[in-house]
Amino acid sequence: MKKIIIAIDGPAGSGKSTAAKNLAKKLGFNYLDTGAMYRAITFMALQKGIVDDVDAVIEMTKKINLSLKFEDGITRVFVDGEEVTDKIRSAEVNSKVSEISAIPEVREEMVKIQKSIGSKGNIIAEGRDVTTVVFPDADVKIFLTASLDTRAQRRLKEYQEKNIPITFEEVKANLEKRDKIDSGRKVSPLKKADDAIEFDNTGFTPEQDLEFLLKKVNEVLQSKGIEINY
Ligand code: C5P
Repeated sequence: MKKIIIAIDGPAGSGKSTAAKNLAKKLGFNYLDTGAMYRAITFMALQKGIVDDVDAVIEMTKKINLSLKFEDGITRVFVDGEEVTDKIRSAEVNSKVSEISAIPEVREEMVKIQKSIGSKGNIIAEGRDVTTVVFPDADVKIFLTASLDTRAQRRLKEYQEKNIPITFEEVKANLEKRDKIDSGRKVSPLKKADDAIEFDNTGFTPEQDLEFLLKKVNEVLQSKGIEINY
């Protein structure tokens, strides 16, 4: 059977992770959370106190042993055998991750690992640049967006669920900053691939997102003569 790659791109808070996880669960595919990898590097750089030293970050990235396990709808992240799954979601990591992921050498290392995971096939890959750089030949490419206020509201809810004290305005400002860095960087900027399906899910629930995406995935695969059973 053909090994299928579905790639989902888009800005922070557009619901990529939820949509990708739901789609992976529904189709019985593996889920590749590329953002978690950049977060893990950022977390380690913060922990080692080298986050502002680009050369030290590059050196660390080359040495680090990073692994992801998708289990029961959760991506567990390990660095050199230590689990960092929760630690990579802090506000501190959020505020630095775009700077770390803008370092070309860091991206090069991460993309290598991502391509190797993708080569096993039947995967939903999610993150900025997965449709443009990591998997430009993906069978289905989706670009998710939503209004800035909607995205900030979603992120705020995530923080509140974790009892992290932060205001709506702070979340919105952080998202705006990340959008700007992600879109403006020289290497792999956030942008829609020409052949990606754009979907603005402002006002959609995760269930409605899944319904829309399943329909689109089926349409695209059928047009290519690929059948999937789920
Ligand atoms: O998706 P998530 O919010 O976890 O991604 C965290 C950050 O990692 C993004 O804001 C972006 O700066 C970076 N990232 C990236 N390329 C990817 C995935 C994430 O640069 N493929």
